[in-house]
Amino acid sequence: MRFLPVFFDLSVGNVILIGSAAPALAKLQLLRAAGAGIRWFPQDAEAAREYLAVEHYAGQIDIFPGEPADVAYRGVLAVVSAAGKEIDERVAARARGLGIPVNVVDRPDLSTFIFPAVVDRGEVVVAIGTGGASPVLARRLRERIEAILPERIGAFAALMRSYREKLAAVRAQVPEFSQRRFWEAVIDGPIGVAFLSGRAAKAEAALYLAVEKAGDTPAPACGVVHLVGAGPGDPDLLTLRALQVLQNADVIFYDELVGADILRRARRDAEKVFVGKRKGHPGIGQSEINRRMVEAAQAGRSVVRLKGGDPFIFGRGGEELEYLAEAGIEALVVPGITAALGCAAEVGLPLTFRKEATRLSFVTANTVAGADRIDWSGLFDAQTTVVVYMGLSSASAVRSGLIAAGRSPQTPVAVLARGTRPDARAAVGRLNDLPAVAGSVGEGPALLVIGDVVTRSDPWRQATLAAIGAAA
Ligand code: SAH
Repeated sequence: MRFLPVFFDLSVGNVILIGSAAPALAKLQLLRAAGAGIRWFPQDAEAAREYLAVEHYAGQIDIFPGEPADVAYRGVLAVVSAAGKEIDERVAARARGLGIPVNVVDRPDLSTFIFPAVVDRGEVVVAIGTGGASPVLARRLRERIEAILPERIGAFAALMRSYREKLAAVRAQVPEFSQRRFWEAVIDGPIGVAFLSGRAAKAEAALYLAVEKAGDTPAPACGVVHLVGAGPGDPDLLTLRALQVLQNADVIFYDELVGADILRRARRDAEKVFVGKRKGHPGIGQSEINRRMVEAAQAGRSVVRLKGGDPFIFGRGGEELEYLAEAGIEALVVPGITAALGCAAEVGLPLTFRKEATRLSFVTANTVAGADRIDWSGLFDAQTTVVVYMGLSSASAVRSGLIAAGRSPQTPVAVLARGTRPDARAAVGRLNDLPAVAGSVGEGPALLVIGDVVTRSDPWRQATLAAIGAAA
C-alpha cells in the first residue's frame, strides 16, 4: 500500500487547480462536490470562463492568470495539476518542496496523493484505489459497489447520526446497555429495511420509539420477510434491490424456477431451503411455507422468499403477503422481471406495437376449473397480444378456446421455452398448429405468445428465411 486512504476535509480551504482540458474539468467537479475553494489556473482562460458560465459556477470559482508553477502556494491545502508534462513536473516539484499534497493527473510517480474512484451516497462514501496501477479496474470495481449499495444508505447514516446523541443521553442511566448492539439491530432489522426501501417516515418513527425505550427494551428483534422476484432465469436479470436483499439474507426459501446460478448470487452462508415442486414431488405446500417464513422471521432472521419472475404475477405473492400481514410480520415486495418480459426481450418480440397490438393480456392456463374452462371471450380481437403462462401442456385447449372465441386460426404464435437460460428454445407457427409448435420445444417452463407481433420476432424471421431457402 503506497497511498493510505483518508478522507480529506477540503471545505476549510483552497485547492489550486491547473489546466482546462477534460481531466482538469473532471477534477474541478469533484473538488466542488467536496466543497473546496478553487484557485484555477486554466491554460485557456476564455474556455474556462465559458465553462463556468455553462455549469453555473460563475462567481464561485476564481480564475487566475499567470504561471502556476511560480504563484504563492501558502495556505493552500492541495495542488492538482493536469496541464501537460512540462508544467506538471515543475508544479509537482514545487509543491513537494513545500510539503503541500500534490496530484498530477495520470502521473502517480509525480503525485503525493491520488484520487480514488468514488461511490458517493452523501454521508456514506466508498473510495477505491489501485495505487494508480489501473484506473479502469478501479472504475469497474466502483460500478459493482454502486450496484450493491442501496441508494438511500447515505440518508440512513444521516438519520442515525441525528439520533446518536439522544440515545447517549437515555443510555447514560443504563450501564449494561450496548450501543453497538443497539445500532446493529437498527441496521439489520425492520428499521433499516424500511428506511432503505423508501419508508423513511415509518423507519424514523420506529427509531424514535426504540431510542426512547432503549433503557429497558432493545430494538425489536423480529426479522423481515422480503418477497423477491428472481426474474426469468438469467441471473443478470435480477434487479439491484433483489441482489442487495439476497446479499443480506439469513435464510432463503426458493422455488423450482430459481436456478443454482441465481442462488450463487446470494450471501454465501445464507441457509437455502428448497420449497418448490418437482416432477413427482408435490413439495411442502403453501401453508407449510407460510409457517416456516413466520417462524424464521420471529426468530429475528432476515428472510427471503425467492420466486421465479415477479412475485405478483402467478406467483402467489399476494397470498403470502396477506398471510404475513395477519401474522404481524413486516413484509416487503421486490419486483422481478416476469417471464413474459424476459422471454420476449430475448427473442426480439415486442409485446405491444403501435396500431398493431394495443392490448396485452397475461393469462394462466393453470386454473382450478381446468384449461378447457378459461374464458377467452375478451381476447379474440386481433390487436390483443395474449401471453399464456403454465400453458405448455394445455396448448390444445388454448388453441380451441381462442379459435372458438373468434380468434383467427392463422394468428401467429410463438412458444418460448426456458427463456433467458442457457438452453432456451423458441418455436413459431400459427394458432391452428399451436399444439405441434408447443410439442417441439422440449421441457418447460414455457410461455405461449399469441398475436400478430410474433411476426416481428427473431425466430419468425429466421423461420421465414429458412422456408425461402428450402423453397429455392
Ligand atoms: N411469477 C412467475 C410466473 C410463475 S408461473 C413470473 O412472473 O414469471 C410459472 C410459469 O411461468 C411457467 O409455467 C411458464 O409459463 C412461465 N415461466 C417462468 N419462467 C419461464 C422461463 N424462463 N421461460 C418461459 N416461461 C417461463
